Amino acid sequence: MKLYTGSPYWSILTDMNIKQFPNLTKNIECDVLIVGGGITGALCSYYMNEAKVSTVLIDKNEFASGSTIINTSLLHYEIDTTLNKLSKIYGKQNAIRCFQLCRKSLYDLKTLINHTNINCEYVPRKSLYVSSNVFEDIKLLAEYRSRKNAGFKASFINKKIMKEHFKLQYSAGIYSYDGAEINPYMFTKNLIHYSSLNGLRAYENTELISIDYKKGYNIAYTQNATIKAKKIIFATGYEAQSLVDSYTTTKFKTTYTLTTKPIKNTQKLWKDNSLIWEAKNSYTYIRRTKDNRIIVGGYDTNYKGYMPSTETIEKKGELLLKQIKELFPTLDIEKDFVSAGIFASTDDELGYVGSLEEYPNCYFLLGYGANGVLYCIIGSQILRDLFLYDYHHDADLFSFYR
Ligand SMILES: Cc1cc2nc3c(=O)[nH]c(=O)nc-3n(C[C@H](O)[C@H](O)[C@H](O)COP(=O)(O)OP(=O)(O)OC[C@H]3O[C@@H](n4cnc5c(N)ncnc54)[C@H](O)[C@@H]3O)c2cc1C
Repeated sequence: MKLYTGSPYWSILTDMNIKQFPNLTKNIECDVLIVGGGITGALCSYYMNEAKVSTVLIDKNEFASGSTIINTSLLHYEIDTTLNKLSKIYGKQNAIRCFQLCRKSLYDLKTLINHTNINCEYVPRKSLYVSSNVFEDIKLLAEYRSRKNAGFKASFINKKIMKEHFKLQYSAGIYSYDGAEINPYMFTKNLIHYSSLNGLRAYENTELISIDYKKGYNIAYTQNATIKAKKIIFATGYEAQSLVDSYTTTKFKTTYTLTTKPIKNTQKLWKDNSLIWEAKNSYTYIRRTKDNRIIVGGYDTNYKGYMPSTETIEKKGELLLKQIKELFPTLDIEKDFVSAGIFASTDDELGYVGSLEEYPNCYFLLGYGANGVLYCIIGSQILRDLFLYDYHHDADLFSFYR
């Protein structure tokens, strides 16, 4: 499955000494085998390894070369399904809990970075969830009130404040705290490297080809060797979909991102350089990078089973460029990289974490939805606890049977 096309800007922009890992050539055993070394597999192997679980991580390609390489990493605890909408689906307490878990995962991310001291261009950011017309404003105000009542720290930004203080032309917005941005490529590579120095066995260019399901354990077959594991975790990103299709509400889209050249002569591109994302259905999302570039994404279309042509990508890039120039008319903005990637959303915009009877001794950790990275932090902790204690208080919220 081709996950993206165009220029994977993180790998091009990131100047780092990349450690290569070997492929697996001899039969081994472990407690947990994690398949897929993107940001999900990196997080899951970190949490397993820290809990002293004997863990093996494999990827059929290089680590961090799947969706992770084009992930824009706007990390905000707010879920694409508003708290009000999620409350209607799962009840108020469950909806609040999902938001709280996402917020907690941001604190856990900070703890992880402090603990490992990995370089990943982490910057704490506020988030600005914006509306474009008066109808969206009304919904946004109701959402703001619900979040405040639930104890989330936020401010409502009306049109006047938006114009005068934020210098933006949006109609209104919810300004939230506790967000962050990272370089997901650097994060993934460096986290796997850190874990490998602390006990994780990691193998690149090692593909899971088939599984022999046994009582209490599985045998995983790769090209050159087998891995005997008590549990196998699928952290194979969007490529896992064919295994779980009938249990999910997944819809694949194609999303487009433009990364500008570094913006010159500016310390602050916009107020607090907050993460900006729109309340619309197919929405635009904006962040900055450490070297003063703007990343803007959007113009999603339904995924047709193949990647768009170079011509389409360029056209979408021009649209994104036009949009960002209109938003920041005083900045000198030039296009640098454009890419298109598959993106998986679900009806409730939550990811999937847990097991299915069809696959004995296996778990899935699927960071679907725009909060994919945070779901993978939450999910890694859920799976660690399910492995160790057969219980996690919040497991049902993200299960296939929710
Ligand atoms: C354009 C874009 C923007 C995004 N922005 C955000 C955002 O701002 N915030 C956010 O939280 N989330 C965001 N997401 C979602 C987020 O990217 C995903 O949740 C996450 O990057 C996926 O990482 P992953 O590790 O699950 O998958 P991947 O990075 O795709 O990793 C899966 C790995 O599994 C390997 N694999 C597959 N099959 C096998 C096999 N049989 N054997 C061995 N290895 C195998 C692949 O080679 C791959 O390396 C975005 C996604 C996209 C596409």
